[in-house]
Amino acid sequence: MSISENLTKIKSQLPENVTLVAVSKTKPVVDLMEAYNAEQRIFGENYVQELVEKYELMPKDIEWHFIGHLQSNKVKYIAPFVSLIHGVDSLKLLKEINKQAKKHNRVIDCLLQIHIAEEETKFGLNEEELESIIFSEEFKKLENIKVIGLMGMATNTDDNVQIFKEFTQIRSIYCKYKVYRMANWKLNTLSIGMSSDYRIAIQCGSTMIRIGSSIFGSR
Ligand SMILES: *Cc1c(COP(=O)(O)O)cnc(C)c1O
Repeated sequence: MSISENLTKIKSQLPENVTLVAVSKTKPVVDLMEAYNAEQRIFGENYVQELVEKYELMPKDIEWHFIGHLQSNKVKYIAPFVSLIHGVDSLKLLKEINKQAKKHNRVIDCLLQIHIAEEETKFGLNEEELESIIFSEEFKKLENIKVIGLMGMATNTDDNVQIFKEFTQIRSIYCKYKVYRMANWKLNTLSIGMSSDYRIAIQCGSTMIRIGSSIFGSR
């Protein structure tokens, strides 16, 4: 199936409140343009340099999401234009995003990454670390970032029960902290679900899925 056919098929399965991020990492601009011409306007990338290159080449009405692990020293390259940064997992990184956003007179939306998978290698915060960030004095002072939600990645497994459990866990953390309201903390986005597990994620309350290979083919 073509990229546009894949997109049409996935979109037809999505509830109205679920946003589709087309994950285009490693794919050439011609492929992204095919998705663009099929009306896709939100793209997710994992690598800073690749994101910047594609941003420069592609139409300007695209919303670019950074979904990879972001190093503090690279924030400056994406700060002028990035719409949403998914994988934030430290106060240090939030502070750097705030600093770079300020230079460009922007408020940059962020998602905090929560560690839900079994694997040790995956990035993300536990609940205690999340609280230590959001209830700190330093966090309150960050006026050029806004945390609009949480992001998570389930264990890479065929065990649907396990995946369901992990997504349910992040959903409950999301619901718990959604009731807090601060100037820079207004949760409305739960970014869970990739090609292999987005159907389960939607059952568990996902509002944003990040789909790569099911749209663009395997990498
Ligand atoms: C690559 C990637 C995706 C998309 O993965 P697919 O399995 O190709 O859909 C989603 N989220 C993150 C964080 C990724 O790195």
